[in-house]
Amino acid sequence: MSIHIGAFRLSPEFLTKRKLRRQCDDYSCNGACCAEGVFLTVYDAQRIVQHGSAIQKYLVEPYDFASWNMTRPGYVSTPVYSRDPQHEHCWFLMRNARCAVHTYALEQGIPVQDLKPYFCRMFPLTLVDLDIDVTEIAIDPKAYDTCLVPAEQENYLFTQFETELRRTIGDAGYAQLGALAA
Ligand code: SF4
Repeated sequence: MSIHIGAFRLSPEFLTKRKLRRQCDDYSCNGACCAEGVFLTVYDAQRIVQHGSAIQKYLVEPYDFASWNMTRPGYVSTPVYSRDPQHEHCWFLMRNARCAVHTYALEQGIPVQDLKPYFCRMFPLTLVDLDIDVTEIAIDPKAYDTCLVPAEQENYLFTQFETELRRTIGDAGYAQLGALAA
């Protein structure tokens, strides 16, 4: 059953204890979480296209933004760069395993939230539809294969996502979550 924090529903997995820790905190991110690209809102894609020419210089190979198919709003995702089937990744992942959209926004003084795809900003959290009008904040299953690595100590999972949870449910909400675990 969901954890209720104010107006938010959170997956019960946040209050489970696991021997896992976030490796992103060690600055050892290898970009694996960007391997498959990400689903986008049409608005995400349209905003990126507006900066397409300027983003080209950050990319592993130029991308033909005119070829980006946005005709089916529920099925838009980032383009996938594929040198071969073993080396596929989001076209916006740079050689240094950082995001070109994020880097470009920082360098241009554009707020990252104005350009980077919604679900990339939310990751390693995601939204899960439990019903037609019920949505829960959860840990993206992809995080278990990428960001989370074995740890010696057992910890509540929510502690590994403090920054993202505080951004989403606020400091008071995070404190409430901590109180539930106490
Ligand atoms: S847009 Fe950036 S953060 Fe999102 S999947 Fe692509 S490279 Fe990763």
